[in-house]
Amino acid sequence: MAFPELGLRVRDVQDRIDAAQMRGGHGQTVRLIAVTKTHGPDAVNAAAACGVADVGENKVQEVLDKMQVVSAAVRWHFIGHLQRNKTKAAPHFALIHSLDSVRLADALQAAAAQRDRVQNVLVQVNVAGEEQKSGVAPAEVEALAAYIAGLPSLRVTGVMCMAPYTDDEVTLRHAFSGARAALGTVRAAGHGEAHELSMGMSNDYEVAVEEGATLVRLGTVLFGARN
Ligand SMILES: *Cc1c(COP(=O)(O)O)cnc(C)c1O
Repeated sequence: MAFPELGLRVRDVQDRIDAAQMRGGHGQTVRLIAVTKTHGPDAVNAAAACGVADVGENKVQEVLDKMQVVSAAVRWHFIGHLQRNKTKAAPHFALIHSLDSVRLADALQAAAAQRDRVQNVLVQVNVAGEEQKSGVAPAEVEALAAYIAGLPSLRVTGVMCMAPYTDDEVTLRHAFSGARAALGTVRAAGHGEAHELSMGMSNDYEVAVEEGATLVRLGTVLFGARN
């Protein structure tokens, strides 16, 4: 069997998530997304067999190939940077975590409308202003959210952020609490139902959950290091 330790790892992660959720005191429900990028379809099937029904991918062609052969019923999350010329594939995704521009919003609106579908999206915010990362600056969240509120085929269900890669807790908490503030901005800008905070990766998910994460995106801690 592929990934023989996955069941134990999922249980350990869930225990840590539960403990962090209690410590944080935000009272949120936390869902685990297994990030299966670079692994084969067997990783997706193994996650599903361990009760993880949400998987995250960051390359459109890679995920379309996996969708062809994965038998398990999972929700596919797109967590990478989405190019506008790839938005035709968007309706395959339960949630797109990386909406960060008006132009991408327009393209996603067109793709969803063509399929008569409402597309769930998260606004990606770059709290720390890291140049190499996607996402809008906190000061731009309100304008983008207000613009999307006028697009009938998109539904903003929350905010996504990637913290700087560091062990420094102050830096991490600043990023995650900034994302939580951005969620408040999104709600006030016409998306009153938005409630998801997609934040936390293998190295920082416990802090993210303490700060209110509802979706954690974990790859390495479940499947081991990627090549
Ligand atoms: C790869 C990736 C993850 C998972 O990272 P790990 O450190 O392996 O847990 C989470 N989120 C995004 C956006 C990613 O690209």
